[in-house]
Amino acid sequence: MHPQGTGNPARPDADSRRDSGNSPHLWSEGGGAPAEAPPRGPFVERRRHRGAAQTRHEALEPVHRLLAEYEEANRFLAEAEECYRGLFENALIGIFRLNADGEPLIVNPSMARICGFETPGEMLGAVFNFGEMIFVDSSQWSDFVRSLQAGNVLSGFEAEICDRRGTRKWVELNVQPVLDGGGILYHEGSAEDITERKRNEDRIRLLAYYDPVTGLPKRAMFEERLSEALSVASWKSQRVALLLLELERFKMLNDSLGKEFGDGLLKEVAERIRIAVGEETTVVRLGGAEFAVILQDAKAAREVEQFAAEVVAAVAGKFSLLGHSLNISCTMGISIFPVHGRDGQMLLERADVAMVSARESGTNAFQLFTEEMNHRIRERLRLENDLRLALDRGELYLVYQPQVDIRTGDVSGLEALLRWRHPAMGIVPPGEFIGIAESSGLIVPIGEWVLRTACTQAKKWQDTGLRPVPIAVNVSAIQFRQQGFCELVRCILEETGLDPKYLELELTEGLLLTNLDVMLMLVKELRVMGVKLTIDDFGTGYSSLGYLRQFKVNRLKIDRSFVNDVSVNADDAAITTAIINMARALNLEVLAEGVENAEQLDFLRAQNCYEIQGYYFSKPVAVEQIAAQLQGKFLQ
Ligand code: C2E
Ligand code: CA
Ligand code: CA
Repeated sequence: MHPQGTGNPARPDADSRRDSGNSPHLWSEGGGAPAEAPPRGPFVERRRHRGAAQTRHEALEPVHRLLAEYEEANRFLAEAEECYRGLFENALIGIFRLNADGEPLIVNPSMARICGFETPGEMLGAVFNFGEMIFVDSSQWSDFVRSLQAGNVLSGFEAEICDRRGTRKWVELNVQPVLDGGGILYHEGSAEDITERKRNEDRIRLLAYYDPVTGLPKRAMFEERLSEALSVASWKSQRVALLLLELERFKMLNDSLGKEFGDGLLKEVAERIRIAVGEETTVVRLGGAEFAVILQDAKAAREVEQFAAEVVAAVAGKFSLLGHSLNISCTMGISIFPVHGRDGQMLLERADVAMVSARESGTNAFQLFTEEMNHRIRERLRLENDLRLALDRGELYLVYQPQVDIRTGDVSGLEALLRWRHPAMGIVPPGEFIGIAESSGLIVPIGEWVLRTACTQAKKWQDTGLRPVPIAVNVSAIQFRQQGFCELVRCILEETGLDPKYLELELTEGLLLTNLDVMLMLVKELRVMGVKLTIDDFGTGYSSLGYLRQFKVNRLKIDRSFVNDVSVNADDAAITTAIINMARALNLEVLAEGVENAEQLDFLRAQNCYEIQGYYFSKPVAVEQIAAQLQGKFLQ
């Protein structure tokens, strides 16, 4: 093989060498002059004398026959050559013959075109070394040559070439050696321009492997990268940490603020993760709002946790887009190879378990997998499955806790509280299953059932002539943000015939503060409908005064944790007093929940808080006991 540029000293006669060889003039200028006719002259001459000498003719019969056959054969050859020439000239794929040095000896017009030349002649005059001239990747050319020199037949060899005009193309080459005795005489082959196909393949690859929103690799690529990382690690006796990160509240944000906002958020988070982990570390978007980071050569668990903390801290923080501004928060679960699993699937499952556990422990939390978690998660899954069936099986029911106006001793309202009669576990308190219902989405049908049941029951009490009081229903954030929530409330009120002023919805502060604009609209719509709104567990959330002014809710419910210690803890007493005063200043009703004893009650009364709910008066009770409570009086 001659390196390009050093040239072939014998080049001046290269063309004559080609012409004088056995090869037909297939590359001749003009690209397709008809084949020269065989030398027919003498035969025509001889035919002229046929009639003149009959006897001689007979004697010469065999010769004539032979000549005719010869003529026939020649004609056949000429036709065949024309046929093959036509095929060669007009073939859409490139056809070529190279000598052992890689120099093209014959090329058809398509081959010339593929290489960026007008005609075969032009190409043959300019290209002395096929590969070095056009292959983009020299190592590809070396592979190609090595394989050819070994006498291999190459089929489907894909190479990127750069044609004479500098255009990059992909070709598929099929080449085979033509042997002469033991040695390779030359190589013949075909080349097909597969640029379009390659482009399509690339496009498909890009779509299959990369997420168009964030530009990060997708799950398909993640599996490849993780298994690569694991094989390197087991060979080098290293550890690999798999970090799963999930954005909190993404679905809700995406649904309520729109896809453009959601995409922008994902892009920003991807960027924050990328910057935090550095160029070398693989970051993948697994789908939805879930990302994975593969930390190769992870050191001690403490260092992995340090790394995780940095990533979480980088992701968490303010984010503004399209006029919305919010705090991004996330949770992260981590598993480590080979401690928690030896294959990708196992590591992924365990990182996921750790993530669920982290989610339960709060926002912006991360956790390393532990065996104990595994057990807990399995329990949880079992409970989730049972809960899925609970509604259909009629295992859910409501109990009601009275709210008492201590100025009169009358029941001023009832809070509906959910219970689950589990066939094996007995009565399960909501604290043990509301979270599961929320994370599995089951809260939506369950919440709807609660709302309908409570409204139906309230109407029933009224219809039996009992004094009407508002019925308070707890609404989960997920349920409240569900599209069509207001519509659902309206439908249920219509369906049950309950006057809206007797329905009170208990919302939490956190629920209202995310996605403020949408919440303000929802709250307004419900108020217009005539439904009462209460902020539950007040004091435990953001307790920002500003939003209380914006949200026209009806009342605040002071959280049980403050009420608990009002008589013994000065701070709690101060907070409770502050809440009561603030509510009054804002013209809001205020109720204290969790009142268990007379000291607490006295304190609250002294602060002019008259609405009380708690075990001091009554625990939540079954439907049948409510009539008596409504008719009677507390505090007598
Ligand atoms: P919550 O809305 O704060 O409800 C008050 C909880 O405090 C109830 O617990 C009630 O039984 C309890 N409680 C009332 N008075 C006292 C007291 O004097 N001392 C003590 N220690 N506790 C008292 P419960 O019924 O176990 O409900 C727990 C939580 O589950 C509720 O807290 C609420 O957040 C949630 N929940 C209950 N029912 C539903 C429901 O239908 N939908 C939704 N989304 N959540 C519900
Ligand atoms: Ca409540
Ligand atoms: Ca509460």
